[in-house]
Amino acid sequence: MAESRTPPEVDRAAASRKAVAARRARASLKRDIATRVVTAQEVLRRALADPTSPAGTLRVPDFLTAIPAIGESKRDRILAQLGISPVKRLGGLGVRQRVSLSRWLDERLPEPVPRPQRSRLVVLAGPTAVGKGTVAAYVKDHHPEILLSVSATTRSPRPGEVHGEHYFFVDDAEFDRMIAAGELLEHATVHNAYRYGTPRAPIEKALAEGRTVLLEIDLQGARQVRHAAPDATLVFLLPPSWDELVQRLVGRGTEDVEERARRLRTARRELAAQPEFDFFVVNADVATAAAEVAELAR
Ligand code: 5GP
Repeated sequence: MAESRTPPEVDRAAASRKAVAARRARASLKRDIATRVVTAQEVLRRALADPTSPAGTLRVPDFLTAIPAIGESKRDRILAQLGISPVKRLGGLGVRQRVSLSRWLDERLPEPVPRPQRSRLVVLAGPTAVGKGTVAAYVKDHHPEILLSVSATTRSPRPGEVHGEHYFFVDDAEFDRMIAAGELLEHATVHNAYRYGTPRAPIEKALAEGRTVLLEIDLQGARQVRHAAPDATLVFLLPPSWDELVQRLVGRGTEDVEERARRLRTARRELAAQPEFDFFVVNADVATAAAEVAELAR
């Protein structure tokens, strides 16, 4: 008799471990929705593709309140308006409920759509510590047909950095002159420290030759390029998840509490810029991310 009771207990322990893992996965997914690492529509698509997935087992009220700017009272109004019971999970929605939820999301939170007329000017931006520089360097090494723009900067070279290859290292006076002469396509002060700018001439020459040009710049720069060249392709590099970005930002835990909080606030603000971008590439693996960027640049 004692023996026959053992398996159910083992099963129960395994089931409870599984339940904890599932809850963690849903919590992580909610953070990704909140920080716009994934769009709400993408989560709905995942839920419908696999109702047993973290997205599929997420309750609709929890899904809604994870979306920025939806609080509890708005959530209840939406549920009533769409005729969805608060106990429903995303993967268990009926056809009519799916359609109305998806329509509601498309109207209120439109997903970025690729524009048909795009130039060969590609901007790679994304939150701090997501690995833009590494991905851009990989593209440069593996796709010699793509020109990686070399920026001008007022910061000093780090060991191993070569003038004209990694940056054009200039002083403040020269940077001012470049701005005044209209030589920079965009420029910005990054991290409240040094100035960085994209020289216009090499880009115009490469584009005229039909080449693709890749700029690895910060968000302020990306916005200026959008303004100066509305047909440019803006690619947002995403971390695999919010947790992963936090790890990359504060992983070593060497910063004090205030500095950690400041970095996380910055990351949230940067992630919120996603709707301004045309395409998203997830940097889970550098080679794959670089291949996707190169593909978008073709
Ligand atoms: P780092 O000094 O570590 O090489 O670069 C710091 C930051 O400056 C990175 O986020 C990088 O994307 C940004 N950056 C590099 N070049 C440019 C540029 O030409 N324009 C702008 N706006 N940002 C740049």
